[in-house]
Amino acid sequence: MKVKKIDHIGIAVKNIEESLKFYKDVLGIECTEIEEVAEQKVKVAFLPIGDTELELLESTDKEGPIARFIEKKGEGMQHIAFQVDNIEEAIKNMIDKGVRMIDEKPRYGAGGAKIAFCHPKSTGGVLVELSER
Ligand code: ZN
Repeated sequence: MKVKKIDHIGIAVKNIEESLKFYKDVLGIECTEIEEVAEQKVKVAFLPIGDTELELLESTDKEGPIARFIEKKGEGMQHIAFQVDNIEEAIKNMIDKGVRMIDEKPRYGAGGAKIAFCHPKSTGGVLVELSER
């Protein structure tokens, strides 16, 4: 398995429009697209920076994973996504090496990517997403 790059960094926010003020007005980073991913109960804003992106995540459901994250830890960095060539192979590699996966099969992610999350208990406390574009 080979990690090609940091695909994106996921940031949990209460309100995308409010948060965009900081990224756009202060940092000058433009949001290119806002997409709703019903399966994950989130609205996602993409902010490309160089060859990676920030992904702002706003929950569309009080019981969704982002809502629960904010309830426990507040707004802030939620996950880091590594881009891989072949996600099925990457998942198998992780499992073979004893990593606990949240997703043992890829699922649909924002931007049409195939994604899978690794359990933070296996990654030193970081929620790691594998992403194949
Ligand atoms: Zn992500």
